[in-house]
Amino acid sequence: MNHNIYTVFESRFPAQADTVLLETPQGETWSYGDAQSESARLARFLSALGVTPGDRVAVQVDKSPQVLFLYLACLRAGFIYLPLNTAYTENELDYFLNDARPAVMVGQPEQERRMAALSGRHGVNHTFTLGRDGGGSLLEASRKTPAEFGDVTRQPDDIAVILYTSGTTGLPKGAMLSHANLAANALALNKAWGWQTDDVMLHALPIFHIHGLFVACHSVLLGGGKLLWLPHFDPDAVIRLLPHSTVFMGVPTFYTRLLSRPDFTAEVCRNMRLFVSGSAPLLKQTFDEFHARSGHTILERYGMTETGMNTSNPLDGPRKAGTVGLALPGVSLRIVDEQSRPVSGNEVGQLQVKGDNVFKGYWQMPDKTAEEFTADGFFRTGDLASQDSDGYVSIVGRNKDLIISGGLNVYPKEVENRIDDLDGILESAVFGVPHPDFGEAVCAAVIPEAGAELNEHTIINTLKGQLANYKVPKRIYFLDTLPRNTMGKVQKNILRQDHAHTFDVK
Ligand code: AMP
Repeated sequence: MNHNIYTVFESRFPAQADTVLLETPQGETWSYGDAQSESARLARFLSALGVTPGDRVAVQVDKSPQVLFLYLACLRAGFIYLPLNTAYTENELDYFLNDARPAVMVGQPEQERRMAALSGRHGVNHTFTLGRDGGGSLLEASRKTPAEFGDVTRQPDDIAVILYTSGTTGLPKGAMLSHANLAANALALNKAWGWQTDDVMLHALPIFHIHGLFVACHSVLLGGGKLLWLPHFDPDAVIRLLPHSTVFMGVPTFYTRLLSRPDFTAEVCRNMRLFVSGSAPLLKQTFDEFHARSGHTILERYGMTETGMNTSNPLDGPRKAGTVGLALPGVSLRIVDEQSRPVSGNEVGQLQVKGDNVFKGYWQMPDKTAEEFTADGFFRTGDLASQDSDGYVSIVGRNKDLIISGGLNVYPKEVENRIDDLDGILESAVFGVPHPDFGEAVCAAVIPEAGAELNEHTIINTLKGQLANYKVPKRIYFLDTLPRNTMGKVQKNILRQDHAHTFDVK
């Protein structure tokens, strides 16, 4: 039997090949048949170059319909798809390419020179470009390849995608997700969210992350229906297209931005059946305001790169504000204390999960992988959670000190390492504070070396050349010493408290 997830999608494609799968705001459309032929062409083209199953295909491009077809092509050919955030700098890409050793790299046309240098340094055999309008060398070179391809047989545990997540050590880790992991989660969500063949998903998320790529795209590919494909989140376009949509998925920032618009009304949402939120905590205030304005109750769910979705508020039944709902079918979860004993009642503890959705481990990090799993096979999520008597889970914090800014993860250690490398700096501590728009904003406390003349503006500007913008601190505070506990650990909670009101709306 072939466990290639593409064959699962295809087995459920609408009988009519000209049914529209994807439509852009300009009204261009691609049918399910187009998705089949475009992905077949790319799979055949790359295979003919000598790319073989298990090879990595690194993709750092703007969102376009063609990237989705490239993703499907990789699944079909058994290549490991490796999407990368377009905000990553050359510096960061060096790490990913060195670690993943891809056979193919596809990048933005405007970054052709940077890519050539990177490919040269890391021995990438094939380098192509793919623009937001579908232009670039990849489609040009594959244009004449026949659109026929025999899908490669995959076993359940064969890796389909590597997604990099950072670590508290500062070194990003490649989470390996298998064909069976992706299929299990897509099937669970399909059922849980009552997917209908005439659903229209307004897709405004990036597709280098699980939320936009797996949760949103897999729902449509598996369930039928149509994607309204926005290149990025744009409130004007969302408000214009919501009346033509039935499902929307967003990070909390999307919802607060919609609420800030007087033209976001119940009338605009008249055809909607489901709004889903995740990737960061949704404030109760946003949940309530959204309901009052639109008449819809946002369904909040919880997951992570390593596991896909673990919990969801119910489609039918109460959706409780401030909770991420119940364990999805097929997912076991437990909340334990420091000694790995289950906590009692609704006490807070470490959340652990197990299920077919849970990843196969970190790419080339067997020790790190082993550390993150318990002896009985549960994955330590690193999240702190509690569970009420009805089984609803609340995520109350992150024991890994992760900062989530605008739905994107920032690991303090990575930013601290960059800051500490700058001249005149002794040490630093990076932490998140509440921000009305981004959820959290990155800030840094910096200890200058004796006599060093530093200024906030210069440090921020220097970091902008080295780190993706969302990781660069919005504020730098100069201190004489960092607050530390008796064990010598920096007390970030004190820094967070001291600066909690930096971004308060006056
Ligand atoms: P990522 O791997 O980028 O998807 O980030 C996963 C982390 O985001 C989780 O470990 C949680 O800390 C956080 N997260 C995701 N969804 C939620 C949610 N609904 N509420 C609170 N935190 C969330």
